[in-house]
Amino acid sequence: MKIIVGLIHHESNSFNPELTDIEEFKILKGEEIREKGEALTRTSLKGIIDVLVKHNFEVLPTVVALPTSEGGLVKREAYNYIKEIYLEELSKHEKIDGVCLDLHGSMTTEDLDDAEGDILAETRKMVGNETPITVALDMHAMVTDKMMKNADALVSYRTAPHLDKYETGAKAADMLAKALKENIKLTMAGYKISYLVSGEKSETDKYPMNELLRRIEEVDKDQEVLYSSYCLGFPWADVEFNTASSIVVARGNKNKAESKARYLADEFWKKRYDFKFTTPAYSLEEALKIAEGEREFPIFIMDSGDNPGAGSNQRIVEPLIYLKSKGYKRVLYGSVCDKEATEKLKQAGIGKQQKILLGQRNTDPQSGKVELTCTTKNIRKYGDVTSVLAQINGIDVIISDKKVVMTDPEFVFSLGVRLEEYRIVMFKSGYLAPEYKPYARKVMLALTPGYTYQELEKIPYKRVKRPIFPLDKIDTIEPEPFS
Ligand SMILES: [Zn+2]
Repeated sequence: MKIIVGLIHHESNSFNPELTDIEEFKILKGEEIREKGEALTRTSLKGIIDVLVKHNFEVLPTVVALPTSEGGLVKREAYNYIKEIYLEELSKHEKIDGVCLDLHGSMTTEDLDDAEGDILAETRKMVGNETPITVALDMHAMVTDKMMKNADALVSYRTAPHLDKYETGAKAADMLAKALKENIKLTMAGYKISYLVSGEKSETDKYPMNELLRRIEEVDKDQEVLYSSYCLGFPWADVEFNTASSIVVARGNKNKAESKARYLADEFWKKRYDFKFTTPAYSLEEALKIAEGEREFPIFIMDSGDNPGAGSNQRIVEPLIYLKSKGYKRVLYGSVCDKEATEKLKQAGIGKQQKILLGQRNTDPQSGKVELTCTTKNIRKYGDVTSVLAQINGIDVIISDKKVVMTDPEFVFSLGVRLEEYRIVMFKSGYLAPEYKPYARKVMLALTPGYTYQELEKIPYKRVKRPIFPLDKIDTIEPEPFS
C-alpha cells in the first residue's frame, strides 16, 4: 500500500513584524528525505516512517519544511513554494492508499491564516474522501474546522517541552495502519475551548497540565477510543480561530468521540484559573534584586519576551541596556541575533575593541539599533550559526548571525563559556530548557518586552475571537464543537 508522508512546520508569531522567508526553512524534496534522514531525528515524521515501514507500507516522501527557529508570519511566496513542492510530489503518485503528515498546526502566512487547513483541504481534493489522512500535530496547534473536516485523525504531542514527537508520529501512523489493515473507520470529534495560554504556564510535568493529561489517559482506556489530545493553541498568533481544543478519535462511533471530547473540554475549563507560571515570574528589576540576595550561582533569568522558540526576533536589547546602566558584572546575556554586528566583530578578530550597532532597542521596529563598545573574547561557528562572545562593560554578550533557540548547552560551551563563572545567566528563552537545568542554582522568568510578551492580558489582540479566557474573565463561555 502506498502512503504519502511529509513535514511542514512553523509557529508563526503575528506580533513579530519581520516576515519569515524560505531561507529560514530546511527544505528537502521527495527522495532527498530518505537520503538525508538525519535531519528528521527529533521529528514526528521519523516516527511516522518507522511505523509505516514496520507495516510494510510503501512510503512516498513529499516535502520536509523545517524552520531553523520560529518567527514572524510566513511570506506568501515561501508558503507557496513549500506547498507547490508538496503537491507536485503528491501528484507523481497514483492510487494512494493513505496520507500521514507531520504538521505544526500554527502556521500563518501574511494573507492566509489557516495554512494547515489549506494543506489538508488540497490533500483531500487530490486523494478523495475514501483515502484516510492522519496527522501528528504540535501541542501548540490552533486546530480549525477546516483541519478537522479534511483529516480523519489529528493527534498532538503530550509533552511540553516536547519530548514525544517521535511517539506522536508513530501514533498517527499506527492509526492509519488500523484504518487500512483492520478496516477501522476513524471517527473524530473535538471542541474549541476559548482559552489562551503560554507554554510557560502549561509545562506538562506541572499542575494543571499533568492532571489534564491523566484525564486524557483515562479517556484512552475506553475500548472505542483510539487516541485523544489537547491542543493548546499559540498565544502569539492574532487570528480569529486561536483557541485551545480537545480532540478524540474513536473507532467509528461518532457519539463516543463527541462525548469524550466534550468531557475533556469541560475538564480543561474547570482548571481555567489554575494555569500559573511554572517558573516564578517577576519584572526584570525584581528578578535582579532577588538574584543579588542569593549565595549560590549562577542564577538563570529568562528574557522571556524575546524568545525565538516562540517566534520573537531575538534582537531586543532593552534588558541588556538596563543591566549595563546598573553596572551589573559577571553576567552572560544572549543570544542577540545581529548579522551585521557578528560580521563586524568577526572581521576585527579576537581581543579587539570595537564600536558596534546592536539589535533593536525595543519592540518598535523604528526604535533603531544601540551603539555599544565591546571587546571580542571568542568567535565560533556552531552548526550553521556564527557567534561572537563579546564583553560589554563586564557583561559577556553572545551575538549570533542567526536566531538561536537556547536549548543546547554545547552551543555556549563552543564559545569557551563556563557557566559556573557567572552570577547571572540571562537567556532569550521562555522556560529554561531541561538541558540547562543542571547548571542553574535558581531559575526566574523576567517579564521582559518582546514579541513573546508573557502577560497575555496586556497584549493588544485585534483578531482573536472574544470572549476568551483570560483576556475576558467570563466563567460561562461554553466549549464549541468543531463543525
Ligand atoms: Zn509547541
